Amino acid sequence: MTTPASDTSTRLAEWQQAYTDLQSLGLKLDLTRGKPSAEQLDLSDALLALPGAGTVTDADGTDVRNYGGLDGLPQIRRIFAELLDVPVAQLLAGGNASLTLMHDTLAFAMLFGLPGSPRPWSREEKVRFVCPVPGYDRHFALCEAFGIEMVTVPMTADGPDAEAVAALVADDPSIKGMWVVPTYANPDGSVVSREVAERLVSMPAAAPDFRIMWDNAYAVHHLTDVETESAPALALAAEAGNPDRVLLYASTSKITFPGAGVAFMGASPANITWYKKHLAAQSIGPDKINQLRHAQFFGDAEGVRAHMRKHRDVIAPKFEAVDTILRERLGTSSGASWTAPLGGYFVSLDVVPGTAARVVQLAKKAGIALTPAGATFPYGKDPHDANIRLAPTLPPLDEVRVAIDGVATCVLLAAAEKAAA
Ligand code: PMP
Repeated sequence: MTTPASDTSTRLAEWQQAYTDLQSLGLKLDLTRGKPSAEQLDLSDALLALPGAGTVTDADGTDVRNYGGLDGLPQIRRIFAELLDVPVAQLLAGGNASLTLMHDTLAFAMLFGLPGSPRPWSREEKVRFVCPVPGYDRHFALCEAFGIEMVTVPMTADGPDAEAVAALVADDPSIKGMWVVPTYANPDGSVVSREVAERLVSMPAAAPDFRIMWDNAYAVHHLTDVETESAPALALAAEAGNPDRVLLYASTSKITFPGAGVAFMGASPANITWYKKHLAAQSIGPDKINQLRHAQFFGDAEGVRAHMRKHRDVIAPKFEAVDTILRERLGTSSGASWTAPLGGYFVSLDVVPGTAARVVQLAKKAGIALTPAGATFPYGKDPHDANIRLAPTLPPLDEVRVAIDGVATCVLLAAAEKAAA
């Protein structure tokens, strides 16, 4: 049944008025990036006093002030090896950003090729990556930076659509890799099930050097007391006879201080040897003082888990507020739907197709900054113009409430405009 024109125009007038009211509030709110709030950063302030004057050695007796130790400090690697389910010998601890490790992996692959590569990727006619969508914009930016073509597959509640991936990689040797955020994915919060993980690590791939960039950025970032474990990708890949397929990344960016944390890379012995060979030309060793300070701060893996529960206490109410307000304002008849993640940093909002860019524009004009529409898709192009990533961690709770209420008004106005057009 179509809506009578008068209803459509009445509704449009109503939402236009609500929007004018919203604009008159003169807001200046930011839901663009998944940054921890100041209250979360405060949780790690003890780091600022560590390792403390006079502490110059780690638990193994290494003087952390000096050059060396390309693999990173064993003390911090032991803690994260347990959390990330990687043998300590197969986990490197590096600088402050896992994105750097992902970038350098791709740069080394381009320049030198990976174990199993017939030639450096830059000498291939074409290099393509499978990108589950919606996904993380910086993964797509890395592909663009290296001229890697992106092919999309849909995300499901259990992670990437494994059958779609398997069909793509089976007979196309130009597909050299794929992105996976296995736990609490950015932005839809889904968790890769063991079955999906098994399929991805065991599916036949035409490229002999096919890699899964397993970016476990949110492995320990639970929003409820259900502390979901990530599928043990490296072990599953080894069991499936493809030990070199998985490259795992993680960092303490959203555990302690983004920008001053520690990043990790886990991989098979062959991949680790390969990476270290190229790393050795770049660096004599990482910042071991920062790694030691993190190891002292956490103590052990349980220390990390306990610390993450403090983060949860700060941010879970913000995610609850997003869900409550969207339910109240958008209900079930607005044509919008959204995720209620059990962890991670984002809510993925799907609005009426063809209106996401308009919603972001309306929000901007009302003083609410949102991640650009399309950012969750390769090349910034959402074919349905429907997906918006909401990042509610940074603003204080009362501001989150105001911002999401404002976003709901923009969603309703954009939908009414489309219906009236
Ligand atoms: N991967 C994912 C999936 C992320 O969401 C983020 C942060 N937004 C990163 C990596 C960045 O990690 P890092 O700070 O370690 O570079």
